[in-house]
Amino acid sequence: MNFCSNCGQKISFGKVPDDEKERFYCENCNIIHYQNPKIIVGTLPRWEDKILLCKRAIEPRKNLWTLPAGFLENNERIEDGAIRETTEEANAEIKIVRLFSVYSLPHVSQIYCIFLADLVNLNFHPGDESLEVELFKKEEIPWQKIAFNSIRFTLDKFVNATDLTDHEVHLGTWNKK
Ligand SMILES: [Zn+2]
Repeated sequence: MNFCSNCGQKISFGKVPDDEKERFYCENCNIIHYQNPKIIVGTLPRWEDKILLCKRAIEPRKNLWTLPAGFLENNERIEDGAIRETTEEANAEIKIVRLFSVYSLPHVSQIYCIFLADLVNLNFHPGDESLEVELFKKEEIPWQKIAFNSIRFTLDKFVNATDLTDHEVHLGTWNKK
């Protein structure tokens, strides 16, 4: 961050009153520009004994498989964002079942929130950001070609869940090595 989004002047970085952390602030407006984590919302859509995955059409991780997910918009509920992303990437009609996993990536300040969902029909097809959208049985999941650790974590918890009705939310963190 270089310039104030309020007045356009160059902003400063450093200690501000009553705060442990250093912040970006504008001396002209006398406001602090807080920076907070980004939330990524998505779904794990299922149909009978299969789950839906999307092959990415865009970088990063182009050509690898992922669950439909993307950044939450301002003023949007997380479940609405998850449904929107599922529509955008897979044109899939779903019903949210429940929150399934929350995965933190502290080193890049991102949080993934993935909902378990049921497909309403099989009329899905790739959106602009997907090359392919397909259903996979648990034993068919392409583990070597999964785009993100957060998604691999969620798929692993799903595959190994003994009881999907127990409402457990799986908490995970990526530990950068
Ligand atoms: Zn300013």
